[in-house]
This record gives sequence, C-alpha cells and structure tokens, in this order.
Amino acid sequence: MPKTFFIRTMGCQMNVADSDFMSEKLHNAGYKKCNDMHKADIIIANTCTVRQHAEERAFSFIGELKQLKIKNKKLKIFVAGCVASRLKEKLKKKFPYIDKIIPATEIENFSEIVKDTVNITPKNPKTKNSNNKGTEFVTITKGCSNFCSYCVVPFVRGDEISRPKKDILADVKKLISRGRNEITLLGQNVNSYKFGKFDFADLLIELNKIPQIKKIGFMTSHPKDMSDKIINAIASCKKVTRQIHLPLQSGSNKILKLMNRKYTRGKYLKIIKKLRKKIPGVAITTDIIVGFPTETEKDFRQTLDIIKKVGFKSAFTFKYSPRENTKAFYMKDDIPAEIKKERLARLNAIFYNSI
Ligand code: SAH
Ligand code: SF4
Repeated sequence: MPKTFFIRTMGCQMNVADSDFMSEKLHNAGYKKCNDMHKADIIIANTCTVRQHAEERAFSFIGELKQLKIKNKKLKIFVAGCVASRLKEKLKKKFPYIDKIIPATEIENFSEIVKDTVNITPKNPKTKNSNNKGTEFVTITKGCSNFCSYCVVPFVRGDEISRPKKDILADVKKLISRGRNEITLLGQNVNSYKFGKFDFADLLIELNKIPQIKKIGFMTSHPKDMSDKIINAIASCKKVTRQIHLPLQSGSNKILKLMNRKYTRGKYLKIIKKLRKKIPGVAITTDIIVGFPTETEKDFRQTLDIIKKVGFKSAFTFKYSPRENTKAFYMKDDIPAEIKKERLARLNAIFYNSI
C-alpha cells in the first residue's frame, strides 16, 4: 500500500496553486492523495488569514487533528499558508503536535522543510499526477506591495515579485505536455506584472500565440493598474477570457482613499466604460467590503449606487475584519456588528436579485 496524504485548502486561488505544488511533490515521492483524512499518513492544512473568521476556521481544523494524532502516533501534520506565515510561534505553542510549519512565503522550499519527517525523494517524477486536476494555474506574480490599508496579504506573502518570463513559459509548456489547454494566470495584482520591459499585456499577447492553448484567464486585476495597453491586449487576444474580476471594495471616494486603493469611483467607472466598449460581452465581477472604519450610510449608498451603474455579474462581499499590522487596524473599528450585517444583507440582496 502506498502512503497517503490528505490536504485541506482554505482561502484563495493562490493557496489552491500552493496546494497543487505540495501535492505534486508528495505525488512524485510516491504518496497517493486521499479524500479521507482519517486514513491519511500525512495531513496538510493550507490556511488563510485574510479575515479573522478564516483564521478561526484554520485554528478549529488544526484543533480537530489532535485526536487523530493521539490515535495514530505516526501521523504527520503539516500546517502551511498564511496563518503559518503570520503566527508560526503561536501555532507551535498552541498545537505542539504539528510536525512542520510551512509559511506561504516558503512553499517553494516544501521538500526541504519536510524532508526529515517524510521521505520526499522523487520516485516517479515523469508520471502524471492523476489525482491533481487543478494544475492549470500559473503563478505570474508572488506577494503584493500595494498595502491596501485593510489587507494582511503583503505581510504574510511578502513584496510583489514578478516571475521571469522564461519560467512562466516553462510552466505553460509543462501543462501543455500534460494535455492541458486552459490556463489561469495568478497573482494578487496580475496587472502590475513586469519583468524587465515585458509586462502583463505583452504576456497575454505571447500566450495567445501558443496554438495548444485555447483559453487564458487571469486573477486578480487591480483597477489602478488596468491600463489602456492591457484593455487593448485583452480585446485583441481572442483566447483571453471575457470574464474580468475587478475588485471595487467601495463606491465612496472617502473610503477608497482611506483604503489606499489609489483610484476614485470616477476612474473605476471610466475603466468599466472602456472595457465594455473594447470587449463586447465582457462580464465583470467584483469584491466589496462593508463596514470599513468611518463608513457612513451615505458612503454605503455610494457603493450601492455604483453597483447599479456597473451591472456586475456577481460579487464576493465581506464584512470588514481588522487585521493586525495593517494601517486600518490602528483606526477605530467603529461600525457596529449589526450595521455591518445589515449592510451586507442589503448588498447581497442586489446580487441575488440580479443573478
Ligand atoms: N489581491 C486580491 C485579493 C485580496 S484578498 C485583490 O486585491 O483583489 C480578497 C478580498 O478579500 C479582497 O478583495 C477584499 O475584498 C477582501 N478582504 C481583504 N482583507 C479584508 C479585511 N481585512 N476585511 C474584509 N475583507 C477583506
Ligand atoms: Fe491585499 Fe490590496 Fe494587495 Fe489585494 S492589492 S492583496 S487587497 S494589499
């Protein structure tokens, strides 16, 4: 019987890509992915800390694992991802049964980090990882240097780094050799990708030329970096998705400024107008935060208003959650929980009605 591993991925697509990476390393070393954590020899919790609620979910999952470790002393427990970056020492203290902690910034060193607890020597690197269907993600930037005032990502994933063009093309080639023809380019802010003079628009144009590739998606875009050059590249590259995720966060200029988003509602609406003109049929989705510090009813109505103007296809909506170290953490979290809840419900009513 080959040894098995179970992996629980929480959070964003970046974590999904990181889970794929770790799964592939284990697969290559002869481990088999399994869907029942009670039967696994290795359990990996790949965690998210973007909101307090996500962090609490990670803690509760890791807590559950204690019983499994008591029953099976040989079980190896790894905790990866953004909670591992943010609270390495706390995790070690609170859950002494964790075997290895792999911060999001160190996923690339996964094999090195775990090699003294499991045998990670590649055995069958050439065979296809049949249990792993998500490998069509291609990371193009790592980390983020935008420091939106509410966001913990720059603290747990480090500064933004654009990967070399040749490494990205090598990843794409590898996927093609495995029979994939759809790829999704990943980064916290893919629009700001730049390697030397080669930018995101150039990358789309280059990938669009590869005959085996049929569909190119990307996430996430940031309005401040959605240049005319990028819009034109999307318009001219027929394989590039007509579905664009463009987080708005708020429709109030006052709140956008406090969030350090570096655009106004006017600028956002201008981008939407351009996208709709150049890319007929484009579907736009978004992220919105309600209850950011000092958000008044008037600010919130500005958000409702811009949502109606844009006509988003769908949205991820969140209640503001204070995150340690961020700039907003030092502002008073002054919007009462019931008002956050009420605003979220009003927001969601629009989206549920429009889908
Ligand atoms: N890099 C992406 C994704 C960041 S996290 C981007 O810039 O869009 C995904 C979403 O979580 C964000 O767009 C934001 O809407 C939400 N988010 C981030 N930090 C948050 C916080 N402290 N409280 C509530 N929502 C938050
Ligand atoms: Fe966070 Fe802003 Fe970076 Fe997105 S762009 S990851 S919201 S800091």
